Amino acid sequence: SRFIRFSLDQLMNDVLSLLQPKSFLMGHELVAHAPSDPVELEADPEQIKQVLINLIQNGLEALSEKGKVEVRWKEFRGRVSIRVQDNGNGIKPEHMSRIFEPFFTTKGEGTGMGLSICHRIIMEHGGQIHVTSQPGRGTTFCIHLPVRQKPK
Ligand code: ADP
Ligand code: MG
Repeated sequence: SRFIRFSLDQLMNDVLSLLQPKSFLMGHELVAHAPSDPVELEADPEQIKQVLINLIQNGLEALSEKGKVEVRWKEFRGRVSIRVQDNGNGIKPEHMSRIFEPFFTTKGEGTGMGLSICHRIIMEHGGQIHVTSQPGRGTTFCIHLPVRQKPK
């Protein structure tokens, strides 16, 4: 399996430095709030990276002028939680139940694949993904993952 133990802090640094230039060019702020204690995770790092990229991209795409995407993560009692929060346009209540469906998009050139991929990856890791959103105020995605994978 591709599940290995790695530093989530390091992976976050990689993802953030990948997306910082894009965020800057769009005129937005992309901020990482690293925890005081280092976080290690047993998972597929490439897949977790893909999840983070998809969520941050969506956050950036939801922003209007001078918006902000903030990323937080921490470990607590054998679980890792990751929060990606934006102050963008939000999700309409009637769309909330559909956003994880493949091909559901409200964007002119969207594929609608990003969140369905995120959902599949998090399920394959035995985790959960949740969303809360206020139209006109912003959206927060929360992920919970077990620090260690159960032997199969
Ligand atoms: P795509 O980005 O190609 O549209 P996704 O699966 O990544 O596909 O997202 C599906 C839909 O969920 C988006 O089209 C959008 O309507 C909504 N969405 C996802 N993330 C956000 C967000 N951070 N803010 C507002 N809407 C979002
Ligand atoms: Mg997307």
